[in-house]
Amino acid sequence: MTAADLPLLDVRGLVAPAEGRRLLHRGGPVLRPEGVSLQVGRGETYGVVGESGSGASAMARAIVQAGNTAGRVLLDGVEVAELDPVQRRRRLRLLGSAGDGRRQPWSSLVDDMRAAGIADPESRVPELADAVELPATVLHRPESELPDGQRRRVAVARAVCTGPDLVVADDPTAGLDVTVAAQLLDLLGRLKADLGLTYLLVARDLGVVRHLSDRVGVMYLGAVVEEAPARALYRGPWHPYTRALLSAVPVPDPEVEDRRERILLVGDPPTATPGGCAFHPRCPWIRPGRCQDEGPLLRALPGAAPGHVVACHHAEDLDGAVAANEPGAPAENPGQ
Ligand code: SF4
Repeated sequence: MTAADLPLLDVRGLVAPAEGRRLLHRGGPVLRPEGVSLQVGRGETYGVVGESGSGASAMARAIVQAGNTAGRVLLDGVEVAELDPVQRRRRLRLLGSAGDGRRQPWSSLVDDMRAAGIADPESRVPELADAVELPATVLHRPESELPDGQRRRVAVARAVCTGPDLVVADDPTAGLDVTVAAQLLDLLGRLKADLGLTYLLVARDLGVVRHLSDRVGVMYLGAVVEEAPARALYRGPWHPYTRALLSAVPVPDPEVEDRRERILLVGDPPTATPGGCAFHPRCPWIRPGRCQDEGPLLRALPGAAPGHVVACHHAEDLDGAVAANEPGAPAENPGQ
């Protein structure tokens, strides 16, 4: 295999501590022993979707920090943990939702570039501010005094200031109103094209990653349960969890929105890893037997788009099947 054949990012069996106190239960976080595996090609945007506690945010941070986690993370075929720290800071950047509010954008950008070994960082700041459409007048004000939209643009500038190979964006629009979030996603799309970036984009809902992602992975309890080219996933989700997440995404057309079917999940993510299919305690389509006894592996269904795989024993039989919380469903859900 040549370097050109390698994915830019190759994550294999990464088990990262899940985020959130709710999951720190009875001595440890909920983890799936198989962990998360995914590959991101150079120039691609891979969207990872999962609700709070899915492990998606923890995975994002573990990739960038190369922390003490099980599994492997390779950038261009090289273990991230073995990269020179300066190179790592330069090539691999985390885009979070907020920086240190007391700092000024100018100094945080200069410090980030200097730590990544970039020469004459001061001279690059105006160009960066221009690229993220940040007025020069705000560069010397504390971030805490800036409106949300400008603070996020500072975070974007910090993520791209080193000319990285990969930007890992951890829920970059969290807490923003719809208009500001849309503007930020537009900015990320434009920067990707202008700077030739590759993104791993983590978000809580499928609506956020819809317009940016080439491929999407859906995570539940620290493992990918469905992966597909974005268009295939939005047109025809297979996994019950994906179907539920997608059914919660608002549709702009009010008539379609009124007719839209909502799939309600039962309860929160569990506080102990369930046996069998990890989703079975909440699955509206659970069936007795394999669902509780055997963990499903990712597989392609007949006629699937290339790259569309799902971890569900019954995915091909769900269209038209009655979900447990629909009218006409059996009175008892065997998973409860
Ligand atoms: S394997 Fe069973 S419990 Fe798991 S998602 Fe599929 S139908 Fe639901």
